[in-house]
Amino acid sequence: MKIFAIGRNYIDHAKELNNAIPLEPMFFMKPDTALIHNNRPFFYPDFTAELHYEVEIVLKLNKVGKSVDEKFASRYYNEIGIGIDFTARDLQAKCKQNGTPWEIAKAFDGSAPVSNFVPKNQFIDVNNINFRLDINGVTVQTGNTKDLIFSFEKVISHISRYITIKIGDLIFTGTPAGVGEVKIGDRLQAYIENELMLDFYVR
Ligand code: MG
Repeated sequence: MKIFAIGRNYIDHAKELNNAIPLEPMFFMKPDTALIHNNRPFFYPDFTAELHYEVEIVLKLNKVGKSVDEKFASRYYNEIGIGIDFTARDLQAKCKQNGTPWEIAKAFDGSAPVSNFVPKNQFIDVNNINFRLDINGVTVQTGNTKDLIFSFEKVISHISRYITIKIGDLIFTGTPAGVGEVKIGDRLQAYIENELMLDFYVR
């Protein structure tokens, strides 16, 4: 399986990192070794001194697709979850400065904790889903999918133009404003609406 992640998909987050508002979706990938399931702890890596959380709605794909038309793209995912796109912000800044790929900053082991997934038909409107991240009981990020720059359909269509999507692939759909650092000992709790979906510690 593959993990895709969309960068800069909420205007307020693009602004907070001083990035331009993109004209088309931009994505990067993480390997399956990035996944953490079942609320297992995340172990703070020794190669970064500035590890950031980014809470994101995650789509699980259920169909093989190549160059999927946006009109039909909603048929290609059937489940929704929430995850953290852990980012070594210090390494990412170096990558950006040097124009090198982002893998060391974004794709390292454990950089993608994900919740269980729920059927998308449990949501009245997937374009109006509230989600949030609490750290140690304090809300640090809140988002709503109505504020996406590029819809789920647009993102699926765009990715599949370049890379065949397969059953079980995941798409991290982007983070709203409020990203920041985590420290060893922090407890991260991610909610969709008021449902606690993800709950783990940084060790
Ligand atoms: Mg992200």
